[in-house]
Amino acid sequence: MDHIYNFSAGPAVLPQEVLQQARDELLDWHGCGMSVMEMSHRGKEFMSIAAKAESDLRELAAIPHNYKVLFLQGGASSQFAMVPMNLLRGKKTADYIHTGQWSQKAINEAKKYCTVNIAASSEDANFTYAPAQDKWQLDSNAAYVHYTPNETIGGVEFNWTPKLTHSNNNIPLVADMSSSMFSRPLDVASFGLIYAGAQKNMGPAGLTIVIIREDLLGMPIPGTPTMFDYKVHADHDSMYNTPPTYALYITGLVFEWLKNLGGLAAIEKRNIAKANLLYDLFDTNDFYHCPVTKSDRSHMNVPFTLKNPALDSEFLKQAQAHGLIQLKGHRSVGGMRASIYNAMPIEGVMKLVAFMKEFASNHA
Ligand code: PMP
Repeated sequence: MDHIYNFSAGPAVLPQEVLQQARDELLDWHGCGMSVMEMSHRGKEFMSIAAKAESDLRELAAIPHNYKVLFLQGGASSQFAMVPMNLLRGKKTADYIHTGQWSQKAINEAKKYCTVNIAASSEDANFTYAPAQDKWQLDSNAAYVHYTPNETIGGVEFNWTPKLTHSNNNIPLVADMSSSMFSRPLDVASFGLIYAGAQKNMGPAGLTIVIIREDLLGMPIPGTPTMFDYKVHADHDSMYNTPPTYALYITGLVFEWLKNLGGLAAIEKRNIAKANLLYDLFDTNDFYHCPVTKSDRSHMNVPFTLKNPALDSEFLKQAQAHGLIQLKGHRSVGGMRASIYNAMPIEGVMKLVAFMKEFASNHA
């Protein structure tokens, strides 16, 4: 079969090298006679895989010693509940920045546990921008501030990290990095908690990564299920119950791949170059339109529409015939979306842009 380029928003493309290594190791991992899928999570083989994944992750993001890394299940959607359950710590309010459908879901879930203060929202412009921090109306009694650095559906990204200072009572910043984690360097010390489902930028579905500052552990609301208490997982090195072993193994291979590429600064350069190919096209060809404010355009998820929506299905059909798949926009917004996560090679984006230029000139 000809090479295809998969622009899915997630689960998404994985590095070819990683898949090849997984194939080579599928039946017999490093001569131990077993597949990783067959290993006890407490055996020395798997313990070494998990330890390596954690140390590579810590190295990639220079994670300070006072942060725990947790390998969980339940997706980012479970974090929408785990965050308020664990971080309210006796307080009654939390600040949320409302920038689209994913932050909306986090807000809806948090409302079950506390009063949600919408400290800023981009609803006034149909969620096409990231509200500047000087517009945030934070509540000094809030337990934490939650935001979504990259809205996967809207394609809006905060290209800056909010700074919560002492004037905000040192309220912890919480980030849903599901679709942007490890696409660029990050300063972990700016955050109280970071969470992400692995299945976009880091690995297969099934693994959820949480990075949490240690002082935030151990004060869950009464009635918190054991499995939803971060401290339980931290105290057991994410082995309180069976972790998603195979997903963690593949994610570990992706971390190694990232390290070999030169780490997060190197991948950011690649990601900017890829995204610019598409955004430059929108800026020079009015056949295509991207609704997002220029400064807040996502490097990971690039939504766009065709001037004539009647051509949408023809566009998708021809793209597919060129090996360019999964370009249909989210069902709630229509149009197109090209997700160009870390593992999408620049050749894939070049091929897409060449196809788009040709399609535009054929239908001008
Ligand atoms: N947050 C964001 C920003 C997402 O993109 C997604 C998945 N598309 C989720 C949360 C939900 O993740 P999961 O399916 O892992 O629960």
